[in-house]
Amino acid sequence: QQDTFKQVISHAKEYGYIFSSSEIYDGLSAVYDYGPNGAELKKNIKDYWWKSMVQMHQNIVGLDAAILMHPTTWAASGHLDAFNDPLIDNKDSKKRYRADVLVEDHAEKINQKAQKEIKKARKRFGDKFDEEEFVSTNPRVLRYKKEEKEILERLAKSLTNEDLQDVKALIEELEIACPASGSKNWTDVKQFNLMFGTKLGASSDSATDLFLRPETAQGIFVNFANVQKTGRMKIPFGIAQIGKAFRNEIVARQFIFRQREFEQMEMQFFVRPGEEFKWFDHWKETRQKWHASLGLGEDKYRFHDHEKMAHYANAATDIEFDFPFGFKELEGIHSRTDFDLKAHEEHSGKRLQFFDPEMNKNYTPYVIETSIGLDRMFLAVFSSSLQEETLEDGNTRTVLKLPAILAPYKAAVFPLLKKDGLPEIAQEIVEELQWDFNVIYDEKDAVGRRYRRQDAAGTPFCITVDHDTKEDKKVTIRHRDTMEQKRVAITELKAIIKKEIDF
Ligand code: ATP
Repeated sequence: QQDTFKQVISHAKEYGYIFSSSEIYDGLSAVYDYGPNGAELKKNIKDYWWKSMVQMHQNIVGLDAAILMHPTTWAASGHLDAFNDPLIDNKDSKKRYRADVLVEDHAEKINQKAQKEIKKARKRFGDKFDEEEFVSTNPRVLRYKKEEKEILERLAKSLTNEDLQDVKALIEELEIACPASGSKNWTDVKQFNLMFGTKLGASSDSATDLFLRPETAQGIFVNFANVQKTGRMKIPFGIAQIGKAFRNEIVARQFIFRQREFEQMEMQFFVRPGEEFKWFDHWKETRQKWHASLGLGEDKYRFHDHEKMAHYANAATDIEFDFPFGFKELEGIHSRTDFDLKAHEEHSGKRLQFFDPEMNKNYTPYVIETSIGLDRMFLAVFSSSLQEETLEDGNTRTVLKLPAILAPYKAAVFPLLKKDGLPEIAQEIVEELQWDFNVIYDEKDAVGRRYRRQDAAGTPFCITVDHDTKEDKKVTIRHRDTMEQKRVAITELKAIIKKEIDF
């Protein structure tokens, strides 16, 4: 697992997907830059989400609110008081950790043991293996699962308790050691606010304290009335937004999974009070279908319903993804009740209600939120697409099997040789295709090496121009995943590729 993760990180760098931020100054912890290929993949994920939310729903509209917001926003939303993580320091190593993450990691280790048993049994029984049956009857697996569940339940209880010392007791009881030194010498657990502060104004006396938004959702809530009125939206309707969010995370690790500056794709769906659970189920299912449509593998996902709820929610579930370091939250779906709109009404003195003509009355809508981290989705797509394949001739190839619709470049065009007019024909093909999608020209090295390079970069098609092209106006098109090659007319190329990348 550790090795796969390392390979993901180095591949992301080598192929221009992700660099450490300000790398020439040795980087900035938990901040990353997206390179040329990364910027394209990120944009394609955004487009795929935006299309499915805004373009495909007549009752969902977009918004692009500012990162800086009036400071009262964060008093109303509860972030000033409650956007905290429980932190704990190790007295010997002087290292700081999130208390809940230490316990979760411990639980995950137990889960890994169960997974190991399942893997062993699958090997032993081969085709006859029935995972469901095995998991529900094997005593060892049952014990691990029970243990994991009990730990997580106790953690949830300890965290809702004002007095966080229960979390400390749990850490001590589980004999969790400081990962760096192995020492078990912990301080008490303290609350730590995750918002980044900044100042508005020139002189220090008159400056106003502001925060970089820790989530994009509040920009949607404060604009509820503006959007509803100007768009003449009727309940149920949604507002979608993609944008940056900032959190001063204590545990900054796991590459782009947990960053201090990241992007969210959020949609707040406003519904009649009392109908929230129906819509919660609806969005759970809709979001699951969106993920399935990308074909990353259904076994890569699982739902985790929450027992411990945030202060604003009456139902919550996470869509978890099997990242290289195990199943972790990729997307959150929350039933946020009327908490946010009511709080903003109270703090602003403005009415944030809807007049429902069918019910002939005003009410504060309830909200279902779907919130997915763009960077986490990037990591999910990238890590699950990176594969090492053994070919029929015994050689291996590294291939990044990105869903074609998300791939940075859809095709690479090669002249077989750098002479005889072949580069010119290849360039003409590039110039024709680039009106419709990203294409890249490559003439360096033998064609086999160029294929491998594009496989590793994730390009779904390679097009090769050879001497016959001059006569028959045909080229060889090779598919990244099957490695199948076909001779097709130049005029057919656009349609063939478009068929694979259409929404
Ligand atoms: P976690 O428990 O992992 O810290 P969260 O429950 O605080 O996440 P939410 O507040 O529900 O996360 O945010 C919605 C989504 O935003 C998450 O599902 C995740 O994909 C993304 N996200 C949250 N924090 C980060 C971060 N530090 N870096 C990257 N993505 C993040």
